[in-house]
Parts: sequence; C-alpha cells; structure tokens
Amino acid sequence: MCGIFSAWKVPEAAHLTYLGLFALQHRGQEGAGIISTNFQAGEKFLGHRGQGLVSNIFSKPQIESLRGMAAIGHNRYSTAGGSHAKNLQPLWVESSLSEVAVAHNGNLTNASIIRRKLEAEGSVFQTNVDTEVIMHLMARAKGTAAERLESALAEVEGAFSLVVLVREQISGSAKTETKLFVVKDPHGLRPLVLGKLGDGYVAASETCAFDLVGATLERELKPGEVLEFSENAEMKSWFLKKKVTPAPCVFEWIYFSRPDSHVFDESVYEMRKKMGGILAARDKEEGFTADMVIGVPDSGIPAAIGYSQASGMPFEMGLIRNHYIGRTFIEPHQSIRDFSVKIKQNPLRDNLKGKRIVVVDDSIVRGTTSKKINQFLREAGAKEIHMRISAPPTISPCYYGIDTPKESELIAANKSVSEIRDFVVADSVKYISIADLYAGLKIDRPMCDACFTKKYPIEPKDALARSSC
Ligand code: AMP
Repeated sequence: MCGIFSAWKVPEAAHLTYLGLFALQHRGQEGAGIISTNFQAGEKFLGHRGQGLVSNIFSKPQIESLRGMAAIGHNRYSTAGGSHAKNLQPLWVESSLSEVAVAHNGNLTNASIIRRKLEAEGSVFQTNVDTEVIMHLMARAKGTAAERLESALAEVEGAFSLVVLVREQISGSAKTETKLFVVKDPHGLRPLVLGKLGDGYVAASETCAFDLVGATLERELKPGEVLEFSENAEMKSWFLKKKVTPAPCVFEWIYFSRPDSHVFDESVYEMRKKMGGILAARDKEEGFTADMVIGVPDSGIPAAIGYSQASGMPFEMGLIRNHYIGRTFIEPHQSIRDFSVKIKQNPLRDNLKGKRIVVVDDSIVRGTTSKKINQFLREAGAKEIHMRISAPPTISPCYYGIDTPKESELIAANKSVSEIRDFVVADSVKYISIADLYAGLKIDRPMCDACFTKKYPIEPKDALARSSC
C-alpha cells in the first residue's frame, strides 16, 4: 500500500502534491508528508509530515510555506512498522550528497538483512521503515546522485515505486543542482505513471491523481525504468541493470486501486466489470438465477455491475456505506453487536426483503466482514445470499506492499469453499479460478498473483518484509 506523487517544474508544486495525495488517500490513511524545493542555491528542502488524513494534516499556511517548483509526497499505510511519527514519509536526510528525500510505495524483501549489516558497520537508523536502507546505501555509494541511486537499488530486492528528490553538490564546485528521480522496480510490482502539466511533469501511483490536478497522462513507467529530471536538462529515461520477468500486482486491479484510475495500462473499472462478467458466465452455465445483484461498497460495486450486465439479473444497492468514519470513533460501553462493520455498512431493508440475492465482493480475507454483512442482510430480510468473489481465494500473504494477514488468519488458506460458505453464513460461495481470471481479462503477460497461488516472483527473505508499504 501507500501512495506517492511528485511535481517537477510546476508552480505551486506542494499544493498540487497535496491534491495528488488527497486523490490517492485510499492507498494509505495513516499519515502523509510533502517535501518541496524552490531550486534556490543554499536553501534547504521544506517539508511537513503528519499523522492522519491528508485534509487534516496540512493547513493552508503550511501548504503555502512549502514553496517551490518541485515537490514529492507520500500517503502512508503502515503494517508492522508501526504508526509512529518517525516512520512518516517522505524520509528526508542531509548527507554527503547534500540533501535527499524519498517516498516509497511497496515493500523491500531484504531490507532487514541489509539493515543488520549496515548497523554492524556503525550506521544509525532513525525509523523502522525499510525505505531507510535506500538512503543509507545512497549515502555510502560514490559518484553522482544517479550513480548512487543506481548502486543502492542494485542491492535492494522487492517492490519499490519511488520518487526521490535530491539536491546534489556539483563536483568541483560549491554549487548545487536539484534532481528528481521517479523509479519503478524491475518487477514493476506497484503502479507508477507519468503525466504532463504545463511545461512540467507530475508522477503518481495512479492516474486518478492526474485528473484532480489537471495533468494529462503520458504513460505508465516500464519495469526497472528511472526517469531523471534535472534543473538544467531535459527528462532522461534509463533502466536499472537487473533483468527479471516483470510481475505487476494483479490485486491492484482487483481491490487496491481506484476504479477511476488506469493501472498497468488498463482501466481498473473495466477490469472489475469483466471480473463480474466472468462470475456471471460460470453461474449462467450452471443455470443459476437470483432476484437481484448487489455489490459490497465500494470495491465490490463495479464487479457487481459487470455481473448484472452479463447475467441480466438486476443490479440494486443493498448496502449503503458511511464514508465519514475517521480513524477513531467512540464505541459505546454498552455493547452494540458487530459495531465495527455496522458503522460502515447499513443494509437497505426495503430492497432486500424476501429476495434471493447475489452479493459481489472483491475478496474474503479473514471472513469476518463477509460474515457480519451477511448476518445484517439476513436480519434485513434477504431470503438467500449467494456470495460471488471477483478474485481467486486469498491463500497467501503479500510481501510486496499489500497488507494481508499471515496465512493462519486467511480463511481460504485454512477452510474449504463449503466451510467458508458456512462460516460467512451464505447459501453459496463462488470464486473466480486463476485460469478464468487470466482468460476472462485477456491477460497475456506475467503478473504477480502470489496471494492466490503462493508463487512469489521474489523470495521474501526477511521478517521485516511486511514492515513498510
Ligand atoms: P475480511 O473480513 O478480512 O474477510 O475482509 C474482507 C474485506 O476486506 C473485503 O470486503 C475486501 O474488500 C477488503 N479487503 C481486501 N483486501 C484488503 C486489504 N489488503 N486491506 C484492507 N481491506 C481489504
């Protein structure tokens, strides 16, 4: 998880980054930060980071204080790294390079191994996040910022979509030059897109951020690609040396990205609708019908529409989601049953009474949400509940940045489909098979589907692999 954004040579770069992060809020709600620079020699980067939602972290005066024509930003979703302020990104240090700030989406799979080695050699780490090893490796490397970055990234493994802002000392002179690097790891695990805005450029985890700032999409970065922006030169594109088979994350299409984004060159909304169509086609073969189709808001809705269109069964809203839940809410002492799900989703009773319904959701992880939702639907009068999951069963954790619990907590890793059906109190449960997913979406390139297959494109080497985003 996590969202990243950068703006280069555009007026009000920090303000645009703020808007970009706002559009990417779904990728992380733990905290956010922005670092900006105005290219002035001798002036340090300006920055602000905080915990919570983007709209709560930055006030107008704060955004206005982040002057300059270049900025990078980050939305954090923490897993085991903890929700301490010290772990907020962009990370920002002064080193022999002058100044470096990094925002990272994805998890490194060998960070703790590198970290232990560096600590044994005397390095002092200030955060718990895997990204910090990149800063240390850059500081220890030799050469230009580009050479240092390339050398650091040759050592790390895992998922890394990065935006890196550097003020570099020009060799043999007291002058500095500002640079921005936009990087996608050689497997291309997480999305990262380049956009054009006036005479400058923006980059973001997802295209929905460009819509808000008025940028036009240029293209998705290629796996292993580095875009280098310099104060005094045109944009350069070069590639990290490691050659591997690309493995973009299929779960970005299924759940994680926003449906109004284009990710890995596909419309997320269209992909989700097709997933619903795949489920409907299987049900049609078996002659299954129901009175109506509902989706679990928000992520299940596009697939439910796709199911409805392919099956001819009417789509209706059956659950209404409250979008205004902050990070904390006050739970009454007197127990209200299933409070945590109820506060988010409320059944539309009038639509459900006496109906045989298909409930489409994108995934069953632990199974606890589906169980509670189905209980509410039954209490609201639904006669039959047929769960259709627009993905294969989630059987294995992600080590590359999606927050999934360990295998022992994944219901599909431990129960058969009929046991899951009983657990989530449904009349039937069906998933999409891996083969149907690839055929139905016409995917003819390798993807990372390790959460469904346990086939990991990169071996998760260390225990800290799940500690960032
Ligand atoms: P669970 O109760 O654990 O089965 O949660 C299932 C719900 O979590 C589904 O409605 C999904 O949309 C949602 N979901 C799937 N993957 C994730 C994730 N990595 N983080 C948060 N929610 C998720």
